Amino acid sequence: MPYRAPISDYRFLFDHVVDLQKVTDTPRFSEATPDVVDAILTEAGKMSEEVLAPLQRSGDLHPARLENGVVRTSPGFAEGYRAIADGGWVAIAADPDHGGMGLPMAVTTAVNEMMSAACLSLQLNPLMTQGQIEALEHHASDALKALYLPKLITGEWSGTMNLTEPQAGSDVGALRTKAEPNGDGSYSITGQKIYISWGDNDFTGNICHLVLARLPGAAEGTKGISLFLVPKYLPDDSGAPGQANDLRVVSLEHKMGLHGSPTAVMEYSGATGWLIGPEHGGMKCMFTMMNNARLGVGGQGIGVAEGAYQHALAYATERRQGKTLVEGAGGAIVDHADVRRMLATMKAEIFAARAIALSCGVAIDMARATGAADWAARAALLTPITKAFGTDTGIAVSDMGVQVHGGMGFIEETGAAQFSRDVRVTAIYEGTNGIQSMDLVARKMMDGGEAAFGLLDEIEEAAEAAKARLPDLAMPVWNAAETLRECVEWLVTQGDMNARFAGAVPFLRAFARVLGGYYHLRAAVADPESARARLARFYILRLLPEHQSLLVHARAGAEDLYALTPGDLAA
Ligand SMILES: Cc1cc2nc3c(=O)[nH]c(=O)nc-3n(C[C@H](O)[C@H](O)[C@H](O)COP(=O)(O)OP(=O)(O)OC[C@H]3O[C@@H](n4cnc5c(N)ncnc54)[C@H](O)[C@@H]3O)c2cc1C
Repeated sequence: MPYRAPISDYRFLFDHVVDLQKVTDTPRFSEATPDVVDAILTEAGKMSEEVLAPLQRSGDLHPARLENGVVRTSPGFAEGYRAIADGGWVAIAADPDHGGMGLPMAVTTAVNEMMSAACLSLQLNPLMTQGQIEALEHHASDALKALYLPKLITGEWSGTMNLTEPQAGSDVGALRTKAEPNGDGSYSITGQKIYISWGDNDFTGNICHLVLARLPGAAEGTKGISLFLVPKYLPDDSGAPGQANDLRVVSLEHKMGLHGSPTAVMEYSGATGWLIGPEHGGMKCMFTMMNNARLGVGGQGIGVAEGAYQHALAYATERRQGKTLVEGAGGAIVDHADVRRMLATMKAEIFAARAIALSCGVAIDMARATGAADWAARAALLTPITKAFGTDTGIAVSDMGVQVHGGMGFIEETGAAQFSRDVRVTAIYEGTNGIQSMDLVARKMMDGGEAAFGLLDEIEEAAEAAKARLPDLAMPVWNAAETLRECVEWLVTQGDMNARFAGAVPFLRAFARVLGGYYHLRAAVADPESARARLARFYILRLLPEHQSLLVHARAGAEDLYALTPGDLAA
């Protein structure tokens, strides 16, 4: 089943749901006219359909390998990467001063989603580079920017992020990699990093590693971490890749999925690197890359969900099995009530997750274009929701895709299982979804809930406005927003952080549910007689009510949870 880029969905969302126009009305993004955005979506969609999608299976069947210390990538990946780079798709949001197109992040989010749907393991490579570009734009010296950014933006060189060590996963502050000043402005980096995505490849001229490490005498924990740019090859006087740096790939992981993406154990043995941002200020700089990647990884989940949905729908309209109870139905399994339920759920969830991701992109763009603190706070609030709900949707939808296929879903040749295996890690990397949820209930509520209340006001106003025309859809959305508001009010008064953490995951999911209701309502208002309105009805009447039980869970606190001891769990 070939992948079909959902261009008309992005257009609809941009025009009627997330209001891209307010972004393109700002001077900063005025060049992103509707024609330009259309052309970008069409071209990126075409490349994803024609070049990347055919590589998806090849990456799964022929994983990247380590041969004599060199990574050999899956067949066709070098050519696929070249198409991404030549098309300018590595970093369309990058600064035009260094060769980027300066397009809105909302548009980048749609482009990234299409590439992920087509071939997730290859798309992870430019996604890492994009995040690195943003970190360097904000925090690198002018000399480093001039040397590295043009090559990263064209895709001639690629980027990676190096946080994780065996004892430092979610607890990044436990990392031990060392950085010693060389006395000439450079540093010597020594240590081991694990799970490094695209730690090496055989198709870019250089690979630029952003590495977190500790300077001599640095404080314990995250306060003592600094960030370094460590290239595979040290640039010579002309800026071309020169002498090999003192780093190597020790091994590649054997994984559940995402086989085309080499996941490397990296050894830095006194490798030369350059400081990015201030000494001991590395976490703040790395957060620029991580926030970019969190939105991107949320988009990966949505992309895979779209691919899995298209496969399942095609199968369900072909496969005939048993008699359906619907008059006039053709007899394919799509006409069985349970299969229809699964497909409708998949489509409705994809719409919700995509709308949340694009709204997050819009908020980032508005913050950049206007410098307004409330847009920055909106973007910060939506980032963990986009990451966790987008990836949970990828997992749930691809799992349903397997179910729709019946036995054939478990057989690899349909490709349904690959979606499920590949997407699983997206809920783990870039900060597990548990960590995202804790970020939402703690750091993102340090404003006393102001950003959340602002968003809930917007939802309630929209529901009020829709009440006369679509009362059966508007009222449930208004009520859901109000129930969520009560939970936010409860949450921000909890001084015991573990009371918040105990319900963080259900809280994030409930927030996403309510946002999904809001965006579906906007779709129904824009086009009340359409398939989109019928999908909105399905979501609002059948999926949105889940927020109630989730919020009961979110407010239950930590006491009962800890009353259940490790001994009880083992009993
Ligand atoms: C395929 C793949 C690619 C990756 N790519 C990269 C990469 O490019 N660069 C990079 O630096 N890293 C990368 N990672 C590492 C990834 O980011 C980590 O695996 C992830 O952050 C979790 O860390 P961990 O594996 O040590 O799990 P742990 O931190 O040990 O977590 C185990 C469980 O405990 C939970 N947990 C841990 N701490 C807390 C807490 N304080 N409160 C509540 N729950 C907690 C977690 O949510 C999780 O459920 C990659 C991993 C994989 C598998």
